[in-house]
Amino acid sequence: MIKLLKPIGHCYGVVNALNIAKQTVKEYPDKTIYVFGLLVHNEEVRKELDSLGIITLDLKGIDPLARLREFNQDDVVIFTAHGHPDIYESILKERGVTFIDSTCKRVKDCFNIIRKANHVIYIGKKDHPEANAALTMNNNVYFYDINEPFDYSKVKASDPLVINQTTLSFLELKKIHEEIKNNIPNAIMVDEICNATLLRQQALLALNEEVDTIIIVGSKKSSNTMKLYELAVASHPNKQIYLFESVQDCIDKPIKYTNAVIASGTSTPMKTINQIKEYLERNTGYGKR
Ligand code: SF4
Repeated sequence: MIKLLKPIGHCYGVVNALNIAKQTVKEYPDKTIYVFGLLVHNEEVRKELDSLGIITLDLKGIDPLARLREFNQDDVVIFTAHGHPDIYESILKERGVTFIDSTCKRVKDCFNIIRKANHVIYIGKKDHPEANAALTMNNNVYFYDINEPFDYSKVKASDPLVINQTTLSFLELKKIHEEIKNNIPNAIMVDEICNATLLRQQALLALNEEVDTIIIVGSKKSSNTMKLYELAVASHPNKQIYLFESVQDCIDKPIKYTNAVIASGTSTPMKTINQIKEYLERNTGYGKR
């Protein structure tokens, strides 16, 4: 048997970004529409945008400011759900280029807190677009990369605000908060993990012994998908854990299960989840443990 672990599929921030992209196509039929980076971290979503005629720009290895200066008034630029530095908008305004902001409200709220703080320790994943943008929101931000030891000697305040990327693991964040408190007792903690991410992690942790297989569906580029996968591996050592991005991954890697659960990252379309579920159900004769 296969069950879906809820909440599942797109979160409200992703739904909003996709609606904005579709609306932009209707409003600007005569312009070339670009998404500046990945609208959300999912290949199926990128393909859907392709089919609408929206060009997704891969920003890997390119200077974003130089690329922004190449747009002209025949273009419309959509900024992604993860947020972007303020200077991106300034450059397009100067050039008279239309831009649309699909940044998730939850991410915007986080940026506004950072803007108002004196000194900030920002906990996030290096090179993630949300973290990159957050680091530009205040001149006194110290970056706590979740994959590196943090240098406390560089913090020039006794009571910095500690804030984080919205898609981290809540268990990982708890540990980091404890470590920071031990080093900076007056640090002010603000937990900005969004509910769409948190509820999925909590549901995953609560799985009981009857479940023998967990399938996480989503992209390896998606922060919250990878956090779900890592949490599943760490908290359920006796279960089989798989990470699939598309139904092709199931075909390439046949699995055996008795009671499986499918969970997904917030950027994963329901279509992909249902395709994987249906494929596995159709192939239970082959796949049964
Ligand atoms: S995961 Fe959370 S912060 Fe990110 S787009 Fe979805 S609702 Fe917004």
